[in-house]
Amino acid sequence: MKVSVIGTGYVGLVTGACLADMGNEVMCLDVDEAKIRSLERGIIPIHEPGLDEIVKRNVEAGRLVFTLDAKKAAEFGEVQMIAVGTPPDEDGSADLQYVLAAARNIGRHMPDYRVIVDKSTVPVGTGDRVEAAVREELAKRGADIDFAVVSNPEFLKEGAAVDDCMKPDRIVLGLSDARAEAIMRELYQPFQRNHERTLVMSRRAAELTKYAANAMLATRISFMNDLSRLAEVVGVDIEDVRRGIGSDPRIGYSFLYAGTGYGGSCFPKDVQALMRTADEHGAPLRLLAAVEAVNDDQKTTLVRKAVKRFGALQGRRFAIWGLAFKPNTDDMREAPARSVIEALWAEGASVCAYDPIAADECRRIYGERADLTLAASPLEAVRGADALMIVTEWKEFRSPPFDEIRARLKHPVILDGRNLYEPEAVRRHGLEYHSVGRPAAL
Ligand code: NAD
Repeated sequence: MKVSVIGTGYVGLVTGACLADMGNEVMCLDVDEAKIRSLERGIIPIHEPGLDEIVKRNVEAGRLVFTLDAKKAAEFGEVQMIAVGTPPDEDGSADLQYVLAAARNIGRHMPDYRVIVDKSTVPVGTGDRVEAAVREELAKRGADIDFAVVSNPEFLKEGAAVDDCMKPDRIVLGLSDARAEAIMRELYQPFQRNHERTLVMSRRAAELTKYAANAMLATRISFMNDLSRLAEVVGVDIEDVRRGIGSDPRIGYSFLYAGTGYGGSCFPKDVQALMRTADEHGAPLRLLAAVEAVNDDQKTTLVRKAVKRFGALQGRRFAIWGLAFKPNTDDMREAPARSVIEALWAEGASVCAYDPIAADECRRIYGERADLTLAASPLEAVRGADALMIVTEWKEFRSPPFDEIRARLKHPVILDGRNLYEPEAVRRHGLEYHSVGRPAAL
């Protein structure tokens, strides 16, 4: 099948590469010239395990091509997948300008029947707006061409995007058009050969399902963070509670970790956008307001603990382990590390940070500053620091050389925002250990 993918970010590039790997002919369009030029030279602009090889393999096979030409892309694929960004507008609602621009481009240039698939995360009713935008462009050129607009929200996780795309838990299709359904089922058939995982529903239900999924996951995290404050006060280890409730199959273990809050390009913006949609429709989601408030607070919990431990932070220096919003990605959009670093700066402290792959992204965001050093290794980051703060749970932080850390720190203090260690084990190395939601925490 011929597929055009509009937008070559995390979702578009991964989807395009995986579809090509299944034997489809894929053309990826972007408006970012630098991105397209580097993709043409085989340079992948994002860090995603396994993506390099898939892109390379399919480019070489001629099944995956990149373009800046919107007309060519609209003409190419019978399936047109929109995977552009939907960043938050000033009021928190999803900014649909890129989605609608992509839709208008398709309407302007499509030569015959098209299935227009919205993979971007968009509020309920956006499919109708995409449909209207395409229809308007067709009317302008007096063309009478049939098309269908399908909502096909994306559930991949950054850091495991290729795997998620190749082996999806479910494929949600929001549509009411038999021809489009047949095409979409055919397109996704290779991804679900052992058992069918397609859920067909109304377009509006598919749009809401995506927000509901992210809002639910964010709620679980905020629930545990809220509970962790109580656990600290009553002398309970939140990790015991996590294991105690996670073992209940009705609850499960995923997304039950207390820590420094959720971040990334999806949860914060999707929770906000869903709240705005609910407000607009006069059905405010009260629970989500609390989820967001708990998370905002949680992002700076390590800094508050540091103030309790050290008093004024003016002139102090903190080692930070982990900058990406989660492991296995270089994405720092809304990363808790940014809240921690900025709160430390606001207190007059400086930072020496280490992250296995997000250092360049950090440099791009903050530029050269006297109060920010990027270390080449975890141990280099702690040298001479007043304390170590752990913000992202990279695997390489799980069994660190505690004695060497103690020897390098000015004060033997670890503030762990991800509860990576058994408190007693760390303390045996002569380190003061403060984590989240555990007895004797600051
Ligand atoms: P991204 O910012 O990484 O990439 C978006 C790309 O679209 C950019 O390269 C941009 O230049 C391009 N673009 C913008 N307007 C365009 C246009 N008119 N024509 C062609 N290209 C255009 O975004 P992303 O993280 O891939 O997210 C895309 C959508 O998928 C968002 O709605 C997001 O919420 C959703 N989503 C993201 C993830 C994730 O983990 N990143 C997961 C599921 C869903």
